[in-house]
Amino acid sequence: FDDRDGLIWFDGYWIDWREAKVHVLTHTLHYGMGVFEGIRAYETKKGAAIFRLEEHVNRLFNSAKIMNMDIGFSKDKLNQVSKDAVAKNNLDSAYIRPMCFYGSEGMGLRADGLKVHTIIAAWEWGSYLGEDNMKNGIRVRTSSYTRHHVNITMTKAKANGNYINSMLALQEALIDGYDEALLLDVDGFVAEGSGENIFIVQDSVIYTPSLTSALAGITRDTVFKLATDLGYKVIEKHITRDEVYISDEAFFTGTAAEITPIRELDNRIIGLGTRGPVTEQLQTLYFNCVYGRNEQYQHWIVKGFC
Ligand code: PMP
Repeated sequence: FDDRDGLIWFDGYWIDWREAKVHVLTHTLHYGMGVFEGIRAYETKKGAAIFRLEEHVNRLFNSAKIMNMDIGFSKDKLNQVSKDAVAKNNLDSAYIRPMCFYGSEGMGLRADGLKVHTIIAAWEWGSYLGEDNMKNGIRVRTSSYTRHHVNITMTKAKANGNYINSMLALQEALIDGYDEALLLDVDGFVAEGSGENIFIVQDSVIYTPSLTSALAGITRDTVFKLATDLGYKVIEKHITRDEVYISDEAFFTGTAAEITPIRELDNRIIGLGTRGPVTEQLQTLYFNCVYGRNEQYQHWIVKGFC
């Protein structure tokens, strides 16, 4: 992934993709404290369109604040660089990855005297969980790993180190032949996927766990608004894994995963065992929205920069 053409923005400069390197004593590499974002740009007739860019950059700054990291660039600057990363790499569609990390100025947990470095890279990235799965749904297992407790790592931050938990859960699910993991919180209630929020549908009402131990997903927020606009009631509540088993429909949401139907949890078939009608309706509206085809949601789209 490091051996390719392209440009990566690194602390204010555009660096050749192959040269965008750090030292092995980079602090974040050792202790995992860093913050990042994942943003998508979609191909439209008028060029690439970035979906909810400002909200992602705002979340990056919130994550940095939670982690006590001072980014040293303005939000406006990182918004602009995100657009430039797509344009300079000649991308029609893209996954944009801003990340802030501590440098190699010192070691130890005090983390004093360290510089916060910022990079923004962009590359083409297709469907995260597979085209087929977007239609037919994925098979999920409840993880043996518990989602972070709110007072162990900060769940409102999209922090690098938090993803050890996600990767353990996803690896376990993949090794066991599933597509994704569902993590429960410390009290045993449904929290989220390894990189997605979860929703269930029961009797045409949509439910999702509150954000206690799940990331405040921007796609989750989008789905909340789209579903409400479509006339659905969307309710945040504690959800148990067996409630998911007997729900009519279930789906994951995320920038990478978009809206992915869940067809099975722990070998129990959910609903009809394929994408349900509410999921399909939301998926269709979501894609119309991110591809800039829906006039009502143009305010979420940043375009006209390449
Ligand atoms: N939860 C976790 C743990 C994630 O990594 C992500 C992806 N950023 C999400 C939820 C979904 O967030 P978003 O919709 O903002 O991509």
